[in-house]
Amino acid sequence: MTQKKTPIAILGSTGSIGVQALDLIAQLPDRFEVIALAAGSKVPLLIEQVRRFRPRFAAVAREEGFAELRRACEALGVESAGGGESLLRAASHPLAERVLCAIVGGAGLRPTLAAIQGGKVVALANKETLVMAGELMLAEAARSNALLLPVDSEHSALHQCLRGERREEVHRLILTASGGPFRLASREQMEAAGPEEALRHPTWEMGPKISIDSATLMNKGLEIIEAHWLFGIEAARIEVLLHPQSLVHSLVEMRDGSVICQMGTTDMRGPILYALTYPDRWSSPLPRLDLAAAPPLEFQRPDVQRFPCLALATAALRAGGTATVALNAANEVAVAAFLGGRVRFFDIPRTIEKVLEEHVPVPADALETILRADESSRRRAEQILSKGVAA
Ligand code: NAD
Ligand code: MG
Repeated sequence: MTQKKTPIAILGSTGSIGVQALDLIAQLPDRFEVIALAAGSKVPLLIEQVRRFRPRFAAVAREEGFAELRRACEALGVESAGGGESLLRAASHPLAERVLCAIVGGAGLRPTLAAIQGGKVVALANKETLVMAGELMLAEAARSNALLLPVDSEHSALHQCLRGERREEVHRLILTASGGPFRLASREQMEAAGPEEALRHPTWEMGPKISIDSATLMNKGLEIIEAHWLFGIEAARIEVLLHPQSLVHSLVEMRDGSVICQMGTTDMRGPILYALTYPDRWSSPLPRLDLAAAPPLEFQRPDVQRFPCLALATAALRAGGTATVALNAANEVAVAAFLGGRVRFFDIPRTIEKVLEEHVPVPADALETILRADESSRRRAEQILSKGVAA
């Protein structure tokens, strides 16, 4: 019997996650059919992917790149489109059953919502969307019968640990964090660090935004909020442990004290495969974990003084409503300014703190409200950064 291939759309195909997903798909050619590819820019790479995977549809968000994409697609008989709306078409393509959402940041919100509203199985890498709109995304998924599956390695681990467990028997979730490049750095070293040092991640190779989030530990803050929405557990019962080896991807403590963890190599293709195949498990072409050859496993509590972003994220989650929208918006703006060499490392948490202090949260149950809070928080963060954060 020949097996039906899984038809899939990939949003953010030119990014770190998108490229790793396509690498995996190329190794499993009779299991997946690529229906749509969409990206923000990097048109030459997108064209190369279109040539290789022959999707039905290709989209690029930046209008300037569309002419080049269209020429290449026409020659291959592939339909193409440009601009923000084209991402929504890729996300809701009628032939795609699974959609990998791997756009970075708030730019992924509308496309992710389109995939959810289309009732797709959504493999979600784009954690910022849950931080901004968790409540709305869950409500829309309930309405359309979409299934939300995490790609983030920690949440993939939690999802696996929780298979078959009753929610009321869970005591707490423990997210592991590598600690990033500054785990052992002094505050002075961090204050003086530029983008190059902050981008040097010890265990994971990722896009620039999440790499800076890993250096500030905001990544873990965003992941606490992500875990809250995915698993329905409140902030007080979600903890973070540093685990520099990045082999235990997260843990669940049950109420009887038993602790369940998931382990695997430090390779995002593992959680990507899980989200693209759930509830099945396929034979994997990826390298396997050799525990006898692994380094000793360490676990430590994070230093909340050097990593204020953790507390800022938890405070925003507790405040509720649009507070997490403001948190995410301020973080995106401050990280971009830091990557551009315009501000210093601790200006990131300082900016977020100021934006959150001024933000008056309202319920985040409608897209318009969320987009309005996002826009005003971005504007406020820009103002704070351009005046000098200490001012
Ligand atoms: P990346 O910067 O490498 O790639 C981002 C992708 O999004 C690219 O394809 C880019 O073209 C697209 N994009 C950017 N701006 C866009 C816009 N305005 N409109 C449309 N598309 C746009 O990022 P990444 O590291 O692949 O991360 C993607 C998402 O996955 C992030 O939310 C990140 O937090 C999450 N994630 C990544 C990793 C990882 O290992 N890289 C791990 C866990 C979670
Ligand atoms: Mg993660």
